[in-house]
Amino acid sequence: MSATAAKNAFRILVVGAGPAGLLFSLLMKRQLPDCDITVVEQNPAGNTYGWGVVFSGAALEFIEQRIPDVFTTLTGHLEVWDQLTIVHRDQAIGIDGSTFSGISRQKLLDVLQNCCRAENVRIDFDSRFDANDPLRAQADLVVGADGVNSQIRASSDFGTSTEEVTNHFIWYGTTRVFDSLSLIFRENEHGSFVAHTYRYSPTMSTFLVECDAATFAAAGLATMTEAESIAYCERVFATDLAGNTLQSNNSIWRRFPMITNERWYVNNEVLIGDALRTVHFSIGSGTRTAMQDALFLCDALAHSEFVVEPALKRFVELRKPGADKLMSVARASIGWYEDFADLMRLDPWSFAWSYMTRGGRVSADRLRERSPQFVSAYEAATPSTNPTK
Ligand SMILES: Cc1cc2nc3c(=O)[nH]c(=O)nc-3n(C[C@H](O)[C@H](O)[C@H](O)COP(=O)(O)OP(=O)(O)OC[C@H]3O[C@@H](n4cnc5c(N)ncnc54)[C@H](O)[C@@H]3O)c2cc1C
Repeated sequence: MSATAAKNAFRILVVGAGPAGLLFSLLMKRQLPDCDITVVEQNPAGNTYGWGVVFSGAALEFIEQRIPDVFTTLTGHLEVWDQLTIVHRDQAIGIDGSTFSGISRQKLLDVLQNCCRAENVRIDFDSRFDANDPLRAQADLVVGADGVNSQIRASSDFGTSTEEVTNHFIWYGTTRVFDSLSLIFRENEHGSFVAHTYRYSPTMSTFLVECDAATFAAAGLATMTEAESIAYCERVFATDLAGNTLQSNNSIWRRFPMITNERWYVNNEVLIGDALRTVHFSIGSGTRTAMQDALFLCDALAHSEFVVEPALKRFVELRKPGADKLMSVARASIGWYEDFADLMRLDPWSFAWSYMTRGGRVSADRLRERSPQFVSAYEAATPSTNPTK
């Protein structure tokens, strides 16, 4: 078979139509139009988990550079703001120079699905993949983009480790429209809570509530019904919700699983996105990372002329160093959140400082450059103790 015929017959099975699977399929179809891609997705179209997701500053730059048409469509649906607000002891501290954008997760998927359809990518919704699916054996390349509970990962030897963070969280939405990304810290008789909130449409915000294990147990959240849990969280954050309610999207209390894999591919099967590794939501990078995996994998395939084994090797070589760096930032951020109840003894300014430097990547000088108003206000508020002097 000639090289061209081999390329034309290239059969790809993509499991999961999340951001990783859809972007991979779109890019792949654009660079090899005659390839045969099937995406299988367990959910119906228009039905996903969660609410909105946030992207930090330059997170979408790679989409702008590589797929400008997708970027242009996405920007029409983005909510953008340039401040982070940290609320502690009723004091709201603004951190300038922090650009973020938010989008409904469903809207992001709709945009990617439409682009895929325009390229004739076949997406089989309502179709749950299981390990014995015959498509698996027929494919030249299998892409496991099936998220946290990946079947591809579970049914092969990727050397997977899963470590559960001790904090508990639940992903709600609310009609309270927040001006900026706000981290709201509150205490009650059971312990300490934080809400990660941001608007992702002109009418809705994400409202993710997190607490430590001791608070979770003291509040009795494990045995509450959905309605009781909502009512409880509405009481904790009554001031911040200002009369708005919390809404559930099959929302349940969970502990975040930190998933990593020793091997990124086994034979002709490769993992991308959350199936490969999970990035803690506190650094707002999981979706971007998943989409970047898709881009790196497509590039590696094109570079290796769609010969699978060298392409997968190249994918790991090129992608792993950057991804590992991000994971170390995520770990530091998780560590900070696991201690946030103790850290709440700090005054609001010192608390905000501690938050801003939690990843270990932002020095005082770097923070001064990025957020001069915050650093000046912090220095004025904590003249004898601050570590910037
Ligand atoms: C609470 C929370 C908040 C978050 N907030 C943010 C944020 O603000 N910003 C951000 O960038 N990221 C955020 N993330 C992370 C982000 O949601 C994920 O990193 C991202 O969705 C990963 O994309 P993915 O395509 O790899 O997986 P997913 O988006 O999980 O997609 C996987 C797809 O595979 C499908 N699937 C699974 N199993 C099967 C099967 N057996 N057969 C067929 N289909 C299957 C699923 O239905 C799903 O559609 C957050 C995550 C959580 C949990």
